[in-house]
Amino acid sequence: MYAAPFHRAASIQEAVKLLQELGEEARVIAGGQSLIPLMKMRMARPAALIDINFVPGLSEIKAVKGEVHFGALARHAEIENSTAAATVPILQDCAAGIADVQVRNQGTIGGSLAEADPSGDWGTALLALDTSVICFGPGGQRTVPLEDFIKDAYTTVLAHDEIVTAVHVKIPPKGSGGAHLAFKRCAPVYPTASTSVQLTLEDRGMCKDARIILGCVGLTAIRAKEAEAALRDKTLDEKNVRAAADAAQAAAEPQSDMRGSADYKRILVGALVKRAIGIAARRARGESVEAAHEYAGR
Ligand SMILES: Cc1cc2nc3c(=O)[nH]c(=O)nc-3n(C[C@H](O)[C@H](O)[C@H](O)COP(=O)(O)OP(=O)(O)OC[C@H]3O[C@@H](n4cnc5c(N)ncnc54)[C@H](O)[C@@H]3O)c2cc1C
Repeated sequence: MYAAPFHRAASIQEAVKLLQELGEEARVIAGGQSLIPLMKMRMARPAALIDINFVPGLSEIKAVKGEVHFGALARHAEIENSTAAATVPILQDCAAGIADVQVRNQGTIGGSLAEADPSGDWGTALLALDTSVICFGPGGQRTVPLEDFIKDAYTTVLAHDEIVTAVHVKIPPKGSGGAHLAFKRCAPVYPTASTSVQLTLEDRGMCKDARIILGCVGLTAIRAKEAEAALRDKTLDEKNVRAAADAAQAAAEPQSDMRGSADYKRILVGALVKRAIGIAARRARGESVEAAHEYAGR
């Protein structure tokens, strides 16, 4: 593996100072579940690594005035098992479906958003909710809505000397339900396609609001606005759900690769969206529904 000088930051301010002093090629390391594999393959060669794992307070998960706040270092497994996150089922679906136990025990929500991998699950799940990313740099703190945070594949608005310190998620209103689903070849790989659906129902029937996000089928997660419009102010009958799934398929921009052909992924998107709408609607009506990922051959 490509080795790099290692610095342990004791505070957010020290991490930022080190990033400034060590220059543009220095990188923060959190769970190391994206950066270390890239370094092993020599696709990343940071001049220095700044370990933020010992910065106090960065791992907290707490409910605060209608929001759930995640410290940047909250691990996927901690989110999966957190009671604060359990109030928003889409968060648990996402955390529980990422890779395998080893990756979930190390990988962080902040690292996942900062990496901006087009196949990453958090970018998709959190876009279905009202999410803000809290960043800290030499100029102090700024809050960036998630839709503005990820600019392109592997590209965010973060400056080289800025770090993610927290992720804030608004708890959806009463009558809401969501689901995050992915189709995978096996557990420790990224999904072939994924979707996050968040619905708000009126009187447990009519769909008042819908958010439908597609993952792994574009350079960033895609908000399928026409699919959302196919459900908004409508009943969730078979015809409208089919129209939403068709619109989601049309919004996808998949590429053929080792995970499947573009046509195959487009079909997957339609099926996942249809299934996620069903689970989200049942949850919005107060049912407790499991939403496990789909695995090839199962
Ligand atoms: C085998 C395997 C399978 C995986 N499968 C999935 C999957 O199915 N779905 C999925 O979503 N992910 C998957 N992952 C990725 C995993 O979720 C990672 O945890 C995540 O992508 C990165 O988080 P990390 O904390 O490990 O970040 P790191 O690897 O430590 O860092 C990643 C990048 O983000 C930067 N960074 C990290 N933290 C911060 C911060 N607080 N502020 C600013 N920059 C920061 C680093 O400098 C680096 O550039 C998989 C990983 C592996 C190894």
